Amino acid sequence: MNVLVLNAGSSSLKFQVIATDLDRIKQNADERLCRGQVERIGGQAIVTLQSGQGERQKSAAPLRDIGAALGYVLQWLASANSGIPNINSIDDIHAVGNRVVHGGELFSESALITDQVLKGIEDCIDLAPLHNPSNIKGILAARKVFGSKVPQVAVFDTAFYSSLPDHAYLYAIPYHLYQRHRIRRYGFHGTSHRYVAHHYRILRQLTREQTNIITLHLGNGCSAAAIRAGKPIDTSMGMTPLEGLVMGTRSGDLDPSIVNLIATKEGLSTQEVDTLLNTQSGLLGISGLSNDMRVLCDELRQHDDRRVRLAIEIFCWRARKYIGAYLACMNGADAIVFTGGIGENSAAIRTRICAGFEWAGLQLDEQQNQKLIGTQGEISAAGSSLRAYVIPTDEELLIARDTARVILGEPHPS
Ligand code: ADP
Repeated sequence: MNVLVLNAGSSSLKFQVIATDLDRIKQNADERLCRGQVERIGGQAIVTLQSGQGERQKSAAPLRDIGAALGYVLQWLASANSGIPNINSIDDIHAVGNRVVHGGELFSESALITDQVLKGIEDCIDLAPLHNPSNIKGILAARKVFGSKVPQVAVFDTAFYSSLPDHAYLYAIPYHLYQRHRIRRYGFHGTSHRYVAHHYRILRQLTREQTNIITLHLGNGCSAAAIRAGKPIDTSMGMTPLEGLVMGTRSGDLDPSIVNLIATKEGLSTQEVDTLLNTQSGLLGISGLSNDMRVLCDELRQHDDRRVRLAIEIFCWRARKYIGAYLACMNGADAIVFTGGIGENSAAIRTRICAGFEWAGLQLDEQQNQKLIGTQGEISAAGSSLRAYVIPTDEELLIARDTARVILGEPHPS
């Protein structure tokens, strides 16, 4: 079946069409038919479209909302000049898979979207006020175009963490705040960590129960997960994606009293401080230059700027702290797996993060590390008892596969 994968944000819509079904999943023979994104929705939007392995086409169009953006994309999909294999009209779309950021405590796995499920996603809006409303708009826009004959599935960023033990998801604040307001760790990037964990065990031909790894998703957003016997037992992002590792523009962990202190000293509201911690902190805040790790690594090579060096050092230090903590919580792990734009592409950052873990049995194969850029494989040396891997993430593929599995009635195995 051809699954349209939608990732609807506040001013963007990313999409892919992936041909998949239960046989293709088994044989790892899914096919990506096209992909693209619409950015700056609400004004003159920038549209990027790519059929199969073809050239990327960029254009601009006035698109007022997600519905208009989806309409534009579908018109292209169905047009003769898009050149997409096996898609001649929108009737060739058989299902829609939606990325939904927050499933709260309601959704522990991907779900066929019914009115009741949609209501559940709405009930989680107060947990993810910036994300779930856009996800819902995407679902409703698709429902308007396709009607009820094309089933839709919601794949939640939080669902992977539904097995977190209560000692890992509860904060040490008065318990009634959890009961009243559902304040707890939910974790994010679950689709990515789940994909990478699944891929690792296929690569190493292990059962789920034999999968004991620490996964590091290092992209614009960054998170770590401790996965024991195939299930996460802890993760670094919390009630919101702000907690944990240092990210492009997010601070990650800090002393909560700092919020009040910044508000008082800088004359900001707590909401404004929250925005500052989410959008002006992290690599950008420390370096004063960029949130983009590639820019920072280039700058460090060329000029050895002190604040750029500090930004990179703090980023890697925090990642190392989490690895150490998770090794302790898991009673040791078999591998550390890197993914996300930085994790997949930056050998220099991987070297810094892995350095000094010889005590835990990790010996990097530096030649192999330098070689694996954007491709999967092992980067630890033969005989390393704690191994290291690079596995490029593919959240869209997992969303498409979950969509097919839910519709075809097979519970997901990973
Ligand atoms: P998102 O979280 O938005 O999906 P990505 O996973 O694409 O983002 O990661 C984006 C990050 O990856 C950026 O900081 C970018 O600079 C970084 N990145 C990509 N390639 C490299 C590279 N070769 N060296 C260092 N950083 C890189």
